Amino acid sequence: MSDQPAYRADLRIDVDAIRHNVRVLSARARDSGARTMAIVKSDGYGHGALTVAAAALESGADRIGVASIGEALQLRAGGITAPVLCWLYVEDDDFGPAIAADIELSASSQESLRRIAAAAEQQGRVARVHLKIDTGLCRNGCPAELWPALVEDAAKAEADGHVEVVAVWSHLACADELDHPSIDRQAERFGLAYEQARSAGLNPIRHLANSAAVLARPDLHFELVRPGIAVYGLDPVPQHGDHDLRPAMTFRSSVVSTKRIASGESVSYGQQWTAERPTNVALVPVGYADGVPRTLSGRMSVWLAGKRRPVVGRVCMDQLVVDLGDDQVADGAEVLLFGPGDRGEPTAAEWADTIGTIHYEIVTGMYRPRVTRTV
Ligand code: PLP
Repeated sequence: MSDQPAYRADLRIDVDAIRHNVRVLSARARDSGARTMAIVKSDGYGHGALTVAAAALESGADRIGVASIGEALQLRAGGITAPVLCWLYVEDDDFGPAIAADIELSASSQESLRRIAAAAEQQGRVARVHLKIDTGLCRNGCPAELWPALVEDAAKAEADGHVEVVAVWSHLACADELDHPSIDRQAERFGLAYEQARSAGLNPIRHLANSAAVLARPDLHFELVRPGIAVYGLDPVPQHGDHDLRPAMTFRSSVVSTKRIASGESVSYGQQWTAERPTNVALVPVGYADGVPRTLSGRMSVWLAGKRRPVVGRVCMDQLVVDLGDDQVADGAEVLLFGPGDRGEPTAAEWADTIGTIHYEIVTGMYRPRVTRTV
């Protein structure tokens, strides 16, 4: 087998940037007396869950959070020994292996708590459980009206010795909209749920804050915070000021060939762009199959040979074309599609703004079969 990469496109992950971001975030948390759980679900938002988890744990985080049991077990298999929480289950998920691997489990219903306690009993172990209240996101937390029964059951399971309730937690719907009234409404419901847990005899810690709340709402840090996107250096609340975050992902490729085209020639499918004068164009071997949204066609540029240059015509599955004007570049010249922006290259946030999405979606979608990822 050849060790040649499948394709000439690479995601470079700057682990120092991740370490820096976690230091920034955990310092903010510490200022409020809180600890930090770094969220590395969805393969570390596309950056590599194991790499990010290890870097975060070296830099001020002492817990890790992921969505699924499978993701949590992969971290254990990769040597992560710190506490790991997961929270999103499917019908036939087996809690046994998770409990055996000391994975902390979220419970948002009496049924999930019952299944977790039963699995712990069968293992002869104590399951560490975080009880999740739905305070207004209407996803996978326990509805407020079912919460008193859940905390009662949890107190009983704790007394039976099968469960240890570690935390009460919830997730914010609009933390990145700083003045959104739902933030305080959710915080109020969260406080009530916590009091109900205490009244049932539980003694949990609390966690509510995602990145936006870590950065902008220190009053909501409680005992633990759960930053995700900011770990990767992408700011969910840039309107709140400069938070000293460093984007960790750079997407780069290189020129495979160049050619001169005549005035009046059109480029790429649909012939949407026509040269108004003779010009040099460079072919770059990445396209929508490699994570470049086709909806950026006609609206994107790349950093190539010392400046921004427009991508012309439609982004294809495997290729895109850059207009060089009268400049010439060598085959193999590096092309920066996005990065931290410090050399003048586009950023993931710029891509997101251009096509009307969020930088979360850009970075989590970038690691694809033909793209290598290097640290
Ligand atoms: N907590 C939970 C439950 C999440 O689902 C997420 C991500 O969506 C986070 C924390 C981290 O959020 P963010 O990436 O906005 O910091």
